[in-house]
Amino acid sequence: MNDFQKELTSNLNRYCLNSIEPHMEHDDEAGKFRMEIFQGLGEYGVTGMTLPEEYGGAGLTYQDYCYVLEEIAKTSVPYAVTISVSSMVQTILKEFGNKEQKQKYLPALTSGQEIGAFALSESHAGSDAGALKTTAKKVDGGYMLNGTKMWITSGGIAKTYIVMARTGGEGSKGVSAFIVREGTQGFSFGKAEKKMGWKTSPTRELIFENCFVPTENLLLEEGKGFQVAMGGLDRGRVAIGAIGVGCAQRALDESIKYSLTRQQFKQPIFDFQGLQFMLSDMATETEASRLLVHAAAASLDSGKANSKLCSMAKLKATDTAMKVTTDAVQVLGGVGYTSEYPVERFMRDAKVLQIVEGTNQIQRVVIARHLRREYEGHA
Ligand SMILES: Cc1cc2nc3c(=O)[nH]c(=O)nc-3n(C[C@H](O)[C@H](O)[C@H](O)COP(=O)(O)OP(=O)(O)OC[C@H]3O[C@@H](n4cnc5c(N)ncnc54)[C@H](O)[C@@H]3O)c2cc1C
Repeated sequence: MNDFQKELTSNLNRYCLNSIEPHMEHDDEAGKFRMEIFQGLGEYGVTGMTLPEEYGGAGLTYQDYCYVLEEIAKTSVPYAVTISVSSMVQTILKEFGNKEQKQKYLPALTSGQEIGAFALSESHAGSDAGALKTTAKKVDGGYMLNGTKMWITSGGIAKTYIVMARTGGEGSKGVSAFIVREGTQGFSFGKAEKKMGWKTSPTRELIFENCFVPTENLLLEEGKGFQVAMGGLDRGRVAIGAIGVGCAQRALDESIKYSLTRQQFKQPIFDFQGLQFMLSDMATETEASRLLVHAAAASLDSGKANSKLCSMAKLKATDTAMKVTTDAVQVLGGVGYTSEYPVERFMRDAKVLQIVEGTNQIQRVVIARHLRREYEGHA
């Protein structure tokens, strides 16, 4: 970490401890998202970190961004996720939007005044997203959207949605991407999902019933929707990896602090070699994940994204988050299983990191595809 990153994360750490941490236990139970917390993070300049200053962004690097997401995730995985999805929407608008679209939608997102959401998945089309069925039929002056999107992060609290819908035939080539604003006629929200974790991050169904979207809200051109959706994925995967590192680090911190003070058999439980080995493995896996996430982020910063590394970072860091949080509950014993300590919340929040932005099986599919290409290329 350089001096700037140290200062950024230590300021943010204070905000997280003072303004987020005190609410987390209650809000996790109540499923409550606080817009004022998100906007407070916006005031720290972390809701549009990697976007250029001309759109209100901070013009910082992906490595800076990963340290920030890690820091927020140490207090709240759901707020870090809200930022990462909204940032992915910004990246998509920056890469694929035209001048008017960027000027119109980006400043409110980068400043944290508004939240962005990304709507690709449908009930029958998750890993196989190219099978999506929501339609966008060409009509006079625009498109008529019909269909339902599932499990959309920030559904209901976001104002700007990037929605993938079918304008052409079967498969990914028939998909187009649209900008849809909350409040558009024919666009409503279905049920809020009841989830194991990420309870302060709303996950909703989006319903489109004869929802008219003007042509000016089409991103790129017809049939390029999958390119748009996939365009944000490398960055999204690295971001989820960084959140996994924060989640694991918090569980490790809690485990070490607890094991140094908890006495059994007249000594701190830290003194038992059985626990020392466990804590050492937890620390090593967390550090290895951090290094991989930052190697992937460095590839994004270089302008030559290494997709294999991005998938590896997501896979390793989120599998580590699951393992380390589960082990943390074990280290704390009975109290670890109760909400008296936060480790059970982090364990619940870790699980879905292995599912979103491409499940960890899909990351392995991507990595294997790269391996085949590399080795067949060498043969
Ligand atoms: C809390 C939450 C938030 C989400 N947020 C968003 C969002 O903001 N926007 C959005 O568009 N989507 C979102 N999703 C959806 C998420 O991206 C999908 O759940 C995910 O892509 C997996 O799809 P699926 O659930 O349909 O599982 P499936 O695709 O049905 O997979 C089921 C199982 O089969 C495995 N599998 C599938 N294909 C293969 C294969 N080829 N090889 C090996 N194994 C395979 C999977 O790994 C998994 O274990 C969210 C989901 C959740 C739970």
